[in-house]
Amino acid sequence: MNNNLIPYGKQAIDESDIQAVVDVLRSDYLTQGPAVPAFEKAIADYCNVRFTIAANSATSILHIACLALGVEKGDIVWTSPVTFVASANCALYCGAEVDFVDIDARTYNMSIECLKAKLLQARKSGRLPKVVIPVHLSGQSCDMEVIHQLSQEYGFSIIEDASHAVGGKYKGGTIGNCQYSDITVLSFHPVKIITSGEGGIGTTNNPALARKMELFRSHGITRDESEMTKKPDGPYYYEQLALGFNYRLTDIQAALGSSQLKKIDSFVLARHKIAGWYDSLLKALPLVLPWRSPEAYSSYHLYIIRLTEDSGITHKAFFEKLRSAGILVNLHYIPVYRQPYYQKYGFNISDFPEAENYYRQAVSLPMYATLSDAEVRRVVAEITDILQKS
Ligand SMILES: *Cc1c(COP(=O)(O)O)cnc(C)c1O
Repeated sequence: MNNNLIPYGKQAIDESDIQAVVDVLRSDYLTQGPAVPAFEKAIADYCNVRFTIAANSATSILHIACLALGVEKGDIVWTSPVTFVASANCALYCGAEVDFVDIDARTYNMSIECLKAKLLQARKSGRLPKVVIPVHLSGQSCDMEVIHQLSQEYGFSIIEDASHAVGGKYKGGTIGNCQYSDITVLSFHPVKIITSGEGGIGTTNNPALARKMELFRSHGITRDESEMTKKPDGPYYYEQLALGFNYRLTDIQAALGSSQLKKIDSFVLARHKIAGWYDSLLKALPLVLPWRSPEAYSSYHLYIIRLTEDSGITHKAFFEKLRSAGILVNLHYIPVYRQPYYQKYGFNISDFPEAENYYRQAVSLPMYATLSDAEVRRVVAEITDILQKS
């Protein structure tokens, strides 16, 4: 038996990626050179969006996106509980409060029904959110058209957390085009669809939001005279207009990102092929397989299955058996309100029944562009064996 470890996700780097990084290392600029604007332009063209702001992580983009939308103390931001903690932490960074909207039992994204009900309630109690952050879990878009309609009706802004969904589509448009949102956040962490090592991009069609994000990315400093409050007293002059950060991406990272972007569609196709193999090889087993929305083309960042009562094994035992067989399945995610840091906010798990069901049943199988059919067969054989013996 082959006992090599199979991770749940991993990057695909080739010689052209390595050459792109080496070229920057031999050039004049390691940061604040031409590679970052070139990556921003390439993503803008790919996503069909007007403005793109690169930063050192998607987490940084989530933070400056909230700041650009004016999130501050006294405001409330809503997101999905089944997400990486960064989707919620961004609101806390701004001194705002976070609340969660339970997930949909079929898509595992924020439930539209729960969102509608919670908005009605919030209007009555005068506690409407300033920003809602839908998360496209596993790379499959939320129903953005409906969320956009609700944002018009209730007056909130939308940040799409599309960290999983780079290379995906919704109703024919590329994720990141901001057709139904103010800002979209893309991540280039190595487990995601394409990578820059660490890195993220915020996309928007709104020039004022784009400019604010640019300022927050780099210390709040401007060198543009038209934005200054005083006349420059010399050619060295610059002004700090806001309390910004150093969230800049390096040229080394941006060059890797641009090189990876050339391969994005083939990466997503490879993930679809793997999802197809899993779909057909697992369909006879007592498991719930991912639901495919007819309105979305998933990037298949994750392939999430769920155990059922019929699976005949506990979630914990299933994880332990697969991991000891070298198959490094994972759980995306422990609901954020369960984190010790969030305990002080007093969330009640009974408010999120679907997120709780999901947490007890979900398993992310290995999924990445270079996963071979032999490896998929090994994963499926282990799962079949485990379920037959239980
Ligand atoms: C990965 C991820 C992030 C954070 O991305 P980084 O680039 O690692 O900061 C945020 N939200 C979700 C849903 C993610 O999966």
